[in-house]
Amino acid sequence: TAESTRELLLSRIRDVADYPKPGVMFKDITPLLADPVAFTALTDALAELCVRHGATKIVGLEARGFILAAPVAVRAGLGFIPVRKAGKLPGATLGQAYELEYGTAEIEVHAEDLSADDRVMVIDDVLATGGTAGASLELIRRAGASVAGVSVLMELGFLAGREALAPHLRGAPLEAL
Ligand code: AMP
Repeated sequence: TAESTRELLLSRIRDVADYPKPGVMFKDITPLLADPVAFTALTDALAELCVRHGATKIVGLEARGFILAAPVAVRAGLGFIPVRKAGKLPGATLGQAYELEYGTAEIEVHAEDLSADDRVMVIDDVLATGGTAGASLELIRRAGASVAGVSVLMELGFLAGREALAPHLRGAPLEAL
């Protein structure tokens, strides 16, 4: 990503200390979404990564990943597929559980949305521990599709999500703008 774009995007991300709980520095992207120049620059940059890595479908991770992935899918001319928290999709689903700091979570996708012909790019706002993204890659492969990569706005380097994600990526690219 061009330096000027990086600076624009960074300037529109708000750090909120101790949200949603003490010790967490929350990366709030709502100022970026509210700025059409920044939101368009982000959409274009993510769409470019999808094209570069040969994606044929875009997965967005609930909830903020939906906001980014939907315009990227339209921009790239590709289908959008929601990966949701368990219990939200009405059709036949595949589910994948993963570890949280305390306890476990589960995400789901509509089984019919992915097939062996698909090469999927996963999009989210923030890569933190990498747990959610890693689970989404397992889900995509279990649905029979292949992985084009994971593209995020931001990576919280100190949480080592990139290292945690590596075994799930199996060589596919992780891009953080
Ligand atoms: P993780 O599974 O730990 O990589 O975290 C995944 C989800 O939590 C992502 O979809 C992020 O949107 C959200 N998240 C985690 N940490 C933060 C943070 N510090 N600021 C904003 N969002 C976060």
